[in-house]
Amino acid sequence: MRLWRAYYRPKQVDEALTILAKYKGDARVVAGGTDLLLEMQQGHKPPVTALVDVTGVEEMRGIVAENGRILVGAAVTHTEIVASELLVQKATCLVESCGVIGGPQVRNVATLGGNVAHALPAADGTTALVVLDAEVEVAGENGRSWHPILSLFRGPGKSAVDHTRELITRFRFVAATGREGSAFKRIMRPQGVALPILACAVWVKLAEGETAVIEDVRICIGPVKPVPCRAEQAEAVLRGRTLAEALADCVMAAQNEFSPRTSKHRATAEYRREMIGVLLRRSLPLAVSRAQTGQIVPEGVGLA
Ligand SMILES: Cc1cc2nc3c(=O)[nH]c(=O)nc-3n(C[C@H](O)[C@H](O)[C@H](O)COP(=O)(O)OP(=O)(O)OC[C@H]3O[C@@H](n4cnc5c(N)ncnc54)[C@H](O)[C@@H]3O)c2cc1C
Repeated sequence: MRLWRAYYRPKQVDEALTILAKYKGDARVVAGGTDLLLEMQQGHKPPVTALVDVTGVEEMRGIVAENGRILVGAAVTHTEIVASELLVQKATCLVESCGVIGGPQVRNVATLGGNVAHALPAADGTTALVVLDAEVEVAGENGRSWHPILSLFRGPGKSAVDHTRELITRFRFVAATGREGSAFKRIMRPQGVALPILACAVWVKLAEGETAVIEDVRICIGPVKPVPCRAEQAEAVLRGRTLAEALADCVMAAQNEFSPRTSKHRATAEYRREMIGVLLRRSLPLAVSRAQTGQIVPEGVGLA
């Protein structure tokens, strides 16, 4: 069976939207195709009349710093994110998360936009974008608008963005300044290439002064709910304290906050609950040390 009949490669956002509109719901956005084409082949997504490939849309391909913010195009690949020195310095957790997605072949074509649009609570790029407090630009027939990333998820695999009529065009977040640091860690099955047993991204801002008091913090652990989420109780116990004082309380708060379920693909609930502590103990000291020293060497990033 043919999975699509026409394949378009627009160069502009408006051109892509016009093609989607013409097909009235029977065309679909594709980027790297690493999620979509498998799902279509396996019958989890229906065939469509047309695919609209957004990887040639120039505006969706850039990584730029602008007025204290970083803008990342939705069609930027994970390999391009890993290679960006700007992101290494200013959004380290994003580099570390995209750097472990799949293998080199997947990272060379798979995009950040596809990772978010696919709407899985285990998606690694999404987990990092949540702690960067990213906003997402969505373009549709009524124009463009920016949305907090967490507002775009409706359930596992269910996005608020209609992939047959709308585009995720760009992401934006505040670039890290002094006294801020982030990190990403995950637990994989030893033989696994796709999606983690559990992943954790953290972002911290330290107060001025000799002692490393945590002024602000964001933590995202996934998958622990049907949609990506912040670990708000674990964050609350860290604010205004040093990590040495508060780490054990933070772990306990996160383990009380979430009840990861047993999954035949992703280990038992008990193991994953234990891993919440392991990931927090690995990622938080790293983020705090980066915030203190400004020394950043991304960890765990694969080679392309
Ligand atoms: C072998 C393998 C290993 C993998 N490992 C991991 C892993 O470790 N971690 C992980 O998180 N993921 C993993 N993935 C999943 C996948 O590679 C990522 O989610 C990837 O980022 C998807 O991007 P894509 O460009 O290929 O999306 P596509 O497959 O092109 O699209 C995915 C969905 O998003 C829609 N879409 C794409 N771009 C846009 C856009 N700009 N606007 C609106 N809708 C859009 C499509 O219509 C489709 O519904 C793996 C996949 C494979 C095949």
